[in-house]
Amino acid sequence: MYMDNSFEQIRKFDPEIAGYTEQEEKRQLETLCLIASENYASPVTVGMEGTVWANKNAEGYPGRRFAGGCEIADQVELLAIKRCKELFGCEYVNIQSMSSTLSNVAVLRAILKPGDTILSMELNQGGHLSHGARFHYSGKTYNVIQYGLNRETETIDMEQVERLAKEHKPQLIICGTSSYPRKVDYERFGEIAKEVGAYMMADIAHPVGLIAAGVIPSPVPYADVVTTSTHKTFRGPRGCGVIMCKEVLGKKIDQQIFPGLQGAPKMDMIASRAVLFKECMTEEYRNYQNQVLKNAEALADELKKCGLRLVSGGTETHLVLVDIRELIPTGREAEDVLGSVGIVVNKNMIPYDPQSANLASGIRIGSPALTTRGFKEEDMRETARLLAKALKHYENKEILEEVRKAVKEKAVKYPMFAEEWNPCD
Ligand SMILES: *Cc1c(COP(=O)(O)O)cnc(C)c1O
Repeated sequence: MYMDNSFEQIRKFDPEIAGYTEQEEKRQLETLCLIASENYASPVTVGMEGTVWANKNAEGYPGRRFAGGCEIADQVELLAIKRCKELFGCEYVNIQSMSSTLSNVAVLRAILKPGDTILSMELNQGGHLSHGARFHYSGKTYNVIQYGLNRETETIDMEQVERLAKEHKPQLIICGTSSYPRKVDYERFGEIAKEVGAYMMADIAHPVGLIAAGVIPSPVPYADVVTTSTHKTFRGPRGCGVIMCKEVLGKKIDQQIFPGLQGAPKMDMIASRAVLFKECMTEEYRNYQNQVLKNAEALADELKKCGLRLVSGGTETHLVLVDIRELIPTGREAEDVLGSVGIVVNKNMIPYDPQSANLASGIRIGSPALTTRGFKEEDMRETARLLAKALKHYENKEILEEVRKAVKEKAVKYPMFAEEWNPCD
C-alpha cells in the first residue's frame, strides 16, 4: 500500500520531526503513564489512520454526499454505525465528529435553544468543561445549574440532583465525569430527567471501554443521548466523538455536526473506529477491560497502604483520585516530582479543594495505559509504592534518583501494546 515505509522516508526527508517522534516513542516506553485519560491506541485501529481513506472527501452522510466516488466510503461509514449500534445497543449513531467536546456542542445545539437550562456537574468536582463551564460555549450560551458531591461520601449527591431538577426544571440533565472514580447511577439520572421532562445526556468519554466490554453498567437504556471520545479507556486513537441517541433525535444531531459545525468528515478516522468497534467485541478486549478494573483496584489499595487518602475511599472504575496532602503540599509539586522520576500523572482538584486549580490538592491517576502495556495487579502495587516513595521523599535527591532508576528499569521491560491484547491471530 502506498503509505508503506513512510517513516523511513520521513527520516530522510524531515530528520527533525522524525527525531522528535523517536524521542517521544522512547519517552513513552521509558516512563510509567498513569494519566487516566491517556492510553496506547490499539495498533489495528491506529494503523487505519493515514491509509488511503485519508484522501477521500466524503462531505455529507451515506447516500447523501456532496462529492462523487463515495460508494465505498458509504459502506465503511454504514458498517461503523452498524457495529457501534450492536456494541452499545443504541438506536442511532453519528460517527463524524472530530472530538468529543464538539459532539457535546452539537448535541446542545440540536436539543436546546439559547438561554435554556442545563443541569450538570461542577467542573471542579469532576464534570467536564463542555458541560457548562463559564468559559466554554456551553456556559456562555445556556443557563447552567450545577450539582456536586456529597461532602461526606464524596459521591454524586443524587438528592441534590433531584432537588435542583425540580426547582429549576432544566431542559437537559447531563451526567458523566472526568475525574470521578465511582460508577454513575444512570438509571436514577434517567428517572429524575423523566420526572421533570428534561432530556438526559450521559457523557461516557472516560469509562466507555469498560462499558463497551460490559464490565460496568451502561447508560444507553436510560439516556436520550450518549456521547464519548475514543481515546481513553476505549483505546482507540485521539480525535473523534461518537454520538449515540434515540432515533427521533438522530437527524437533528446529524445536521448540527454537518453542516452546522463541520465540513467533510475524516474518512480514515471513521474506518479506524469501525475496526475499533469490531475489536471491542473480542475476548481479548473484554479481558483487557477486566484487567483495567483489577489494576485500578490494586493501585488504589496499595496507595492506601502507603498512607494516602483516596477521594470517595477507593475506585469502581479505571480511575483513582488521590489526596496527596499527607505526603506533599500540592498537586502541582506532586506532578513535578513524579514527572522527574518518570511517573507521568496530572494534578487535579479534589472535592472542596482549598487550593486553586493551578496548584490543587490531588492527582488523578488511572490504570488503562499501564494495563495496555501488560501490567498486572502486582506491577500496579509496585508502581504505587514507587509513587508514594517519591512523594514522601520529594526533597531527597538520592532517594528520587533511586526511584527514577527503578521506574525506568520497570518500564523498559514492557512493550507499548502487550501481545495478549492483540485481537489478530
Ligand atoms: C475527555 C473528555 C471529553 C473530551 O474529549 P475530547 O475528544 O478530547 O474533546 C469530553 N467529556 C468528558 C467527560 C471527558 O472526560
